[in-house]
Amino acid sequence: MIADKMKTMIQNSSAIRAMFEEGKKMAAQYGAENVYDFSLGNPNVPAPAKVKEAILEELENDDPVMLHGYMSNSGYEDVREAVANSLNKRFDTNFHAGNIVMTVGAAGGLNVALKTLLNPEDEVLVIAPYFGEYNSYVANYDGVVVVVSPDTETFQPNLKEMEEKITEKTKAVIVNSPNNPTGVVYSEKTIQAMADLLRRKQEEFHTDIYLISDEPYRELAYDGVKVPYLTKYYENTIVGYSFSKSLSLPGERIGYLVIPDEAADAEDIQAAANVATRILGYVNAPSLMQRAVARCLDAQADVPYYDRNREALYTGLKKLGFSCIKPEGAFYLFVKSPVEDERVFCQAAKKHHILIVPGSSFACPGYVRIAYCVSYETIVNSMDGFKKLAEEFQL
Ligand code: PLP
Repeated sequence: MIADKMKTMIQNSSAIRAMFEEGKKMAAQYGAENVYDFSLGNPNVPAPAKVKEAILEELENDDPVMLHGYMSNSGYEDVREAVANSLNKRFDTNFHAGNIVMTVGAAGGLNVALKTLLNPEDEVLVIAPYFGEYNSYVANYDGVVVVVSPDTETFQPNLKEMEEKITEKTKAVIVNSPNNPTGVVYSEKTIQAMADLLRRKQEEFHTDIYLISDEPYRELAYDGVKVPYLTKYYENTIVGYSFSKSLSLPGERIGYLVIPDEAADAEDIQAAANVATRILGYVNAPSLMQRAVARCLDAQADVPYYDRNREALYTGLKKLGFSCIKPEGAFYLFVKSPVEDERVFCQAAKKHHILIVPGSSFACPGYVRIAYCVSYETIVNSMDGFKKLAEEFQL
């Protein structure tokens, strides 16, 4: 018999899986071009040419035994140094190789960070709407998720409620900006206020509260919006980065953690993260990918591609009477459901071959997420279906 804990995890995960399978089934039935699958955050632009060149160069030039071998758990020293130097150049920080742990994507990085920090019953604040897998990651280490409810006016973190929910048991706060599912970028003002709040609470409870910044969408920001680099605002910050979205490499599983020297107990955390990577079974981040991304740290994400989709979807839906705020980053639009139970709306959308995700999956019922990492044609051609939905729901 499987573990009790896994039973609920299977249930949660199978809802998303079911949607994925349904999309494939519908594509086979109606033709892929007639199904508008906005359900998954899977980038549909190819990785930059530089990635392929870097992989080929590594395969041709590196010692094949070394290239495919184990290395230090935290990753290749020169790769970590290259990452640190690139961050220092971009954000005027002071990192060195010792601050970087190469990880198996953002998911791997978050698991390493939480394994490193959490004792059973420690509380982890998450700010709704949020990426649902945080629940499982925290449960992996017997932590307790504490949800800060959404501010549906702005989708910036509700700091007043955050203040009420921080206790002496709060070990970490996970933030994600640009945000999945809203596309909102947390403003500098918000970040400063959050940092002040966390410092105040640390003093009040004589604890250390770590801010874990989950940033797979950092490079996907529009109209020149500033995405604050959180280590500059709050000492006890751990950054989890991923190349999954920026370089369109989600299946390759590569990212990194930044554990700054300024963080409380930094040396212990760095040492623990190094061990956590190994004992969680990742052992180390994929070797070839580490070497490849080190050569591509300046490669640009295809922001204009997603920006065109963003404009088309946002203006198209607004014109039809849907209500949503314009995303500033990532590739998601979070739309208010025209009926209270957004699952009813998702079912209705399916009849028009439109697949979207209920906001309840992100602890924000009454909204739906539309992932626009799809072809431009998908967006244009889906508008007929959205028009019919607008009529059906009398917008
Ligand atoms: N965090 C957020 C907010 C995400 O949206 C995702 C993936 O969609 C992840 C983490 C996991 O990313 P990765 O593929 O880098 O593990």
